Amino acid sequence: MTGSDLQEAYGHLNGDELIGAMVRDVFPGRIAVTSSFGAESAVLLDLVAQVDPALPVLFLDTGELFDETFGYRDLLIRHLGLTNLVVVRPEPEDRKAAEDLWRRDTDRCCELRKVWPLARAAAGYTALIDGRKRAHGDGRSGLSTIQQAGAITKISPLAHMDEAAIEAVFTERGLPRHPLVARGFRSIGCWPCTRAVRPGDPARSGRWAGTGKSECGIHTLSFGTDGAGI
Ligand code: SF4
Repeated sequence: MTGSDLQEAYGHLNGDELIGAMVRDVFPGRIAVTSSFGAESAVLLDLVAQVDPALPVLFLDTGELFDETFGYRDLLIRHLGLTNLVVVRPEPEDRKAAEDLWRRDTDRCCELRKVWPLARAAAGYTALIDGRKRAHGDGRSGLSTIQQAGAITKISPLAHMDEAAIEAVFTERGLPRHPLVARGFRSIGCWPCTRAVRPGDPARSGRWAGTGKSECGIHTLSFGTDGAGI
């Protein structure tokens, strides 16, 4: 089934119902979830843990993450009972080539530290679940819950959720928060490219602030057709 066929068959589902259908019925053994263990990641991972705590969780360690993210990752895994963390890293030569690259070429830096490692890791799967939401704006405003990205089907079970809905889940489920949220960080990636935002500002406005860049490339990659073959 292509992404559009799946959208027709399963596009009415969201959240854990969509995850369950994809994990159990459509892509058994061939699907993983990607997570940055950032400000909102607990909501998706909580649903994944309820469906299948052994589902592979792909975590991109770019080499430039906040120390707090690693502590939060370990806390959340314990809290939710997730059992299959897969740490994805750049190849040593790519990491060397990306040294300080964020100062002068963020697109190339993201390519070396994020896009290529994820493309390699995705080779073992047919589908990837992510936590993107329409409320994040920019290129995500028209996001479908199921999309085809080259050889990979992307599943976004939280596409419909806004900030209030996310907050409600944190409260209802008693989910732990990333420690940087209390310091004004609402979307958390690599430390050189992430800033705290003012109350009321868009959540992702602290990412690559003032540069015009809004995506690292992992969510716009067409797997197997952008030269990032899988
Ligand atoms: S977010 Fe910044 S530091 Fe991280 S990979 Fe992209 S450019 Fe490099």
